[in-house]
Amino acid sequence: KSLVVAVDGPSGSGKSSVSKAVAQRLGLAFLDTGAMYRSVAWHCINAQINLEDAVAVEAAARTIKMEQSMVPETEFFKVNGVNVTDAIREPKISAAVSSVATTLGARAELVRRQQALIADHGHRIVVEGRDITTVVAPLAEARLILTASEEARLRRRGLQLGGTQTAEQLAEQVLERDAKDATVVDFQRAADGVYTVDSSDLDFEETINAVIAVVRR
Ligand code: C5P
Repeated sequence: KSLVVAVDGPSGSGKSSVSKAVAQRLGLAFLDTGAMYRSVAWHCINAQINLEDAVAVEAAARTIKMEQSMVPETEFFKVNGVNVTDAIREPKISAAVSSVATTLGARAELVRRQQALIADHGHRIVVEGRDITTVVAPLAEARLILTASEEARLRRRGLQLGGTQTAEQLAEQVLERDAKDATVVDFQRAADGVYTVDSSDLDFEETINAVIAVVRR
């Protein structure tokens, strides 16, 4: 029986780690769609493709080979055979990735690939991103937005980056990226039938349980 869990939300909301844990507990596959946008950005930088050139970015999204582990326990991403699991998390990729996200032709291609991956996994999967509840899987059995206050999001992203950034740098990185992303996808407001889980005052375990409660409704 199909069970697609669609999770959207801003950066630093804890989406990835929470979605991954939910997939593990429910015995579902897991797809981090942000990693696909990051993989295209990584390839463009690596191949010296101008990220402002929409035609070239779309062509890159269409032609690169992307492989990902969809088993929540063993995460990896490969682009044309190169393991980019760590490289796509670097700040320079975070800074560049919105240029891929705002290239509509690249989005269309990544949405198509994501829908194919969902089908490949028998529609038993947790999918996490910005446009999953609305565009990639609007018919998902469970759809939710995972959000958190700006303060909580900045704090978590700071911890993730190992406390190497100043408060100003963090705010600039997180809030600027969200603002740019919000020009093409509305991940802040829940569409009809989409639940909202606010994790500002929840710990990791409580957040996982809140998401599972939505899935079981
Ligand atoms: O979730 P993560 O921070 O890794 O996403 C990286 C970027 O990929 C986002 O900032 C956004 O530009 C883009 N993205 C998107 N649509 C998705 C997932 C991610 O536009 N479904």
